[in-house]
Amino acid sequence: MRKADKISIVVPIFNEEANINLLYKRLMEQIPLLDLDKYEILFVSDGSTDESENIIKSLGAEDNNVKGLFFSRNHGHQFALKAGLDNSSGDVVVSMDADLQHPPELILPLYERWQSGFDIVQTIRKETEGAGPFKILTAKLYYSFLNFFSDVKVLDGAADFRLMDRKAVDVLGDFNESNLFMRGLIPYIGFKTSYIDFVAADRHGGESKYTIRKMFRFAMDGLMGFSIKPLRMATHLGIWMSFTSVLYLIYVIVSKFFLHNTSPGWSSLVSIVSLLGGIQLVCLGIIGEYVGRAFMELKRRPQYIIAERVNL
Ligand code: UDP
Ligand code: MG
Repeated sequence: MRKADKISIVVPIFNEEANINLLYKRLMEQIPLLDLDKYEILFVSDGSTDESENIIKSLGAEDNNVKGLFFSRNHGHQFALKAGLDNSSGDVVVSMDADLQHPPELILPLYERWQSGFDIVQTIRKETEGAGPFKILTAKLYYSFLNFFSDVKVLDGAADFRLMDRKAVDVLGDFNESNLFMRGLIPYIGFKTSYIDFVAADRHGGESKYTIRKMFRFAMDGLMGFSIKPLRMATHLGIWMSFTSVLYLIYVIVSKFFLHNTSPGWSSLVSIVSLLGGIQLVCLGIIGEYVGRAFMELKRRPQYIIAERVNL
């Protein structure tokens, strides 16, 4: 069985003043159970505007294993995660949410799986206490949609709560894409992976930081970031539509010249034109989405901007 020297716990923070102190306390109950020489807790503040950064600073003043990276503005959860991984130094790195939905008690079983030889230990959220039907339904629909259209398989409930070996973290460091979707990258990079089910707790304090807009953006990054299948589907759709239009045209000609039973035909004309218009717009939209993404990647901007560091 292998043994790590140091564990890093990476926690993205966006206005989590109500949770940081309790999370720290709960982590400090779990970390000694791992029996390691060193640890670090790396809080990445994603442009928090509440007391979060001050709380991190005062924790850092008492315990210099508490580290902080403060973004210059809100860059998004996925980039906060990435920044945490990029700046971590443990042999094993655990990423988890700040709101205590990801139980710290799971860190020990995650670590034990790593000890038995797995390089990535992914948690699978089986249910969420207090989750509304809207979130459950949209998540289910989204994952089936994603797995149908995308070339990587993302398991339903595979949260950004996982343990990674240094090897895997270093590999992720080379992914400098500006549309980041960690849940897809983890299965993409491979490595020996094990899974642990858990029941997510209700959010401890504050409100969810994922607005509908952020969820939509996240969903599109997953969908468009891993395959060009939607583009190909647009082409297929176009081919089939043209084919059926030709068949229909033959039918129209036959009925006009041989059957002599044509009516003014206004309704069929209008419905076909609008159907085609709609399909063309969808296809254009899909192409536009990819062109836009290519444009974003082409600029090679940094993924995040750090304004301040604590104990780093
Ligand atoms: N988060 C972040 N940046 C954002 C939104 C969220 O760093 O723009 C963090 C947030 O502080 C939390 C984690 O990402 O630690 C998950 O967010 P949240 O719990 O609000 O999402 P939910 O559990 O509702 O899906
Ligand atoms: Mg949450």
